[in-house]
This record gives sequence, structure tokens and C-alpha cells, in this order.
Amino acid sequence: LVRHLLASLNPACDCGADVVRRDHQTIWHPYASAMQPPLLSTVARTSANRIVLADGRELVDGMSSWWAAVHGYNHPRLMEALHSQAGRMPHVMFGGLTHEPAVNLAEKLLSLMPDGLERVFFADSGSVAVEVALKMALQYQQGRGQTGRSKFLTPRGGYHGDTFGAMSVCDPVTGMHSLFTAVLPQQIFMERPRCRFDQPFDPASLDDARRVFAECGHEVAAVILEPVVQGAGGMWFYHPDYLRGLAQLCREAGALLIFDEIATGFGRTGKMFAAEWAGVSPDILCCGKALTGGVLTLAATACTASVAEGICAGGNVFMHGPTFMANALACAVACASLDLLQEEDWRQKVANLENGLRSGLAPCAGLQGVADVRVLGGIGVVETCEPVNTAALQEYFVRHGIWVRPFNRLVYLMPPYVTPAADVARLCAVVAGALESGAHLQG
Ligand code: PMP
Repeated sequence: LVRHLLASLNPACDCGADVVRRDHQTIWHPYASAMQPPLLSTVARTSANRIVLADGRELVDGMSSWWAAVHGYNHPRLMEALHSQAGRMPHVMFGGLTHEPAVNLAEKLLSLMPDGLERVFFADSGSVAVEVALKMALQYQQGRGQTGRSKFLTPRGGYHGDTFGAMSVCDPVTGMHSLFTAVLPQQIFMERPRCRFDQPFDPASLDDARRVFAECGHEVAAVILEPVVQGAGGMWFYHPDYLRGLAQLCREAGALLIFDEIATGFGRTGKMFAAEWAGVSPDILCCGKALTGGVLTLAATACTASVAEGICAGGNVFMHGPTFMANALACAVACASLDLLQEEDWRQKVANLENGLRSGLAPCAGLQGVADVRVLGGIGVVETCEPVNTAALQEYFVRHGIWVRPFNRLVYLMPPYVTPAADVARLCAVVAGALESGAHLQG
């Protein structure tokens, strides 16, 4: 409040309005128009689970900056790792050179990942990690002489990123890429895993996968999916037994299994990797987002020794190599983030979040226009019957001191693991209040 008052007394401070004006003239925002620029708030700084706006208002963060900032913002351990690495070497090319932060990170990652994953390729974003996974699967099948296996099979409702290969395996409708259908490689889609996480497993939910494998299994290089939680394609939680059955079908059909754990990785679902819910090890696993605790962009694609050997059979090499591969700053921060996760009892923190979200969002279930309320680990979802008015809700949330950005029919929370119980309660209460008051209605 004091800062807010000081800012309003200071004539030199326009509290971020000039930044927004200049932004509107020059910058494009995610999934936004340049002609009708989106509603924006200017952020001055961040700390722990708070986002501080230029006008001094402090928002309780409910998004972890899209799954990434699991330790909250500006964590001293991550800042320390960043500064100390910056003093030695921010970045160096990775062709012909290596460095300790990358090797340390690869070792740490492999020790945390499901059994059997033995080799890591560092990419610079989640989408690129998915491209890498798809290329690995194609090169593996080619290496085995299976040149007819050039397609990917994936459930509807998935989301894997914005680059062309990744777009081709996103849900053709909810995946937000339908404009590009004509130029995307045509992949094979099967029914979304319809058996809910919290209900007894229905083996019939694998029927469509069985049908597709019987019809065109010989064309499939790999199956790609987000284990247990489908994220941006619908925030849908499905039964882990689906993954066990699917892994078996892949093995029988000679197709690889790729888990996209870019959103689910690093504890968010209550397991270090969501694959653990099913006790299934994929052939290839992608991670990103929370890898650096949300500080820098970094992603990784890991594969088994057998996949690596298949790709490299006959002296072949893997055909990918980004300029900023294994950026040393990002690797050093990621190492510190993984250490922190383990030292700070993330399981307890995520369990506390889960309890807080469950009790806090329960009242939403009785509200008119709410179709479903579901919680898993540090993810709380309120699904509405109709698409919400994102701008109106965003404005309501900022006015009520929280940062939550809904989309389509989903108002969802995934706060940093460090969020105090009172702030979890506040996030839930404001969401419930918004839906009760009709702030989400179109118009
Ligand atoms: N896969 C999943 C499951 C994701 O949620 C996302 C990002 N929302 C991506 C891939 C793409 O990651 P990035 O935005 O870092 O390219």
C-alpha cells in the first residue's frame, strides 16, 4: 500500500501505463492480436509466490508462469547458481565442447527419471524437445530398416507445442493449430483416454488404441502423449492404467513410446515424473518448463540405450543441434533447482497444495455453469460449461489481488510449491467468488 501511495505521488511514475502503450505498438503476445492488443499488466518485480505490478499492487501467483516457477520467483539458491555461473561462462557452443554444468545436469536428470533412460539431448524449449523426440523415433525406426514407420499415433486432447512437428501431434481442434492443418504432416489420432484418474479403470478405454494398432500399427513410428495429465489441450486427468495398457500395445506393435512430461515433470502431479503413477518407463521422455525452476529456457529429451543404439547403428549420427544447446547458465540453474527440489521435501509441499486446492475449490462444484472440479497434486481445475471471458476474468483476478489466466472452459490453478496455505485459500476463494458473481460470462 505504501509503495502504491508513493508511486501515485511520484509524477515521474506512470505505473506501467507507458510500458503497456509502447508494448502495444511493438510486441506480439502469445496467441494474441496485434490489431486489438491484449489486456496487459506491467510487472515490476517478482519474489516467492508474488508478482509485483508497476503500480505497487502485489498479486498472489496461481500459475507458476505456466508450470515453470515451482520454487516461486527469485529463489536465492537459483539466483546464486545463476550469478556464479555467469561469472565463469554464460554460454559456449556445444559442438566439440562440453562443460560440467551440462554433465552434472544430465547425471542428475537420469537419476530422477524412470528406469531405462540413459542418454540426454538438451534443447532450448519444450517444443524443440518434442521435435527432437519425434526425430529420434523416426531415425530409430529407419536405423532398424522400418522405413514404412513414418507416422505418430497420439490421443486427442493432447498438446505438445507450437513448432510444426509438435503441432502435428496436438489435438486438431483444442490444440489451437487447426489453421495449419493443410500443411501439417498427417498423424494418426485416437480417442482421448476417457477413464478418469479418480475412478476405477475401465479397460474399454484402450479399445480405440487397439483398433488403430490393428488397422495401421505397421505405419506407427511412436506413440506420443502426456502421461496422466493432458495439459493445454483440456487439463484432463486420466487413469494411469491406460498407460500400462498402451505401453504393452506399443511393445507388441514395434512402436516406441514417448512421454511428454514437459508440463507434468518435477513433482507437479505428486510424483517426480507422472510416468511413476503407472510404473511405466517410456522409450523417450521430454521435459522442460520447471527444469530450471522457471528462471531460464531449457528442455531435455532423454532416451533409452536401445533407442540411442538404434539411431547410431551403422555409424549414423542424430540430426539435430541447436545454437544454444546446453546453455551453461540454464544448466547450472537447473542443477540448483533439482537439488532444491530434493532438499526441500517437494512431496510434502505438493501434498499440502493438493489438500488446499481440494478444499478451496470444492465450493465451485455447486456453482451454476460449472461442469467439473478436479485436483491432482499441485493442479486444481474448474471446468465451466461455456468458454469463459478471459479478459474479464483476468481483470477481475488482478483487481482481487491474484494472478490466474484461464482459457477456453478452464479456470485452473498451479501455484508455486512454496505457496503458503493462506495464499492457496485466497486463490481458491477469489476463483469461486468470480464464478459465483458471473465475472466469467461472455459479453
Ligand atoms: N508439451 C507440453 C505438454 C506443454 O505443456 C508445452 C507448453 N505448454 C510444450 C510441450 C511446449 O513447450 P514450450 O512452450 O516450452 O515450447
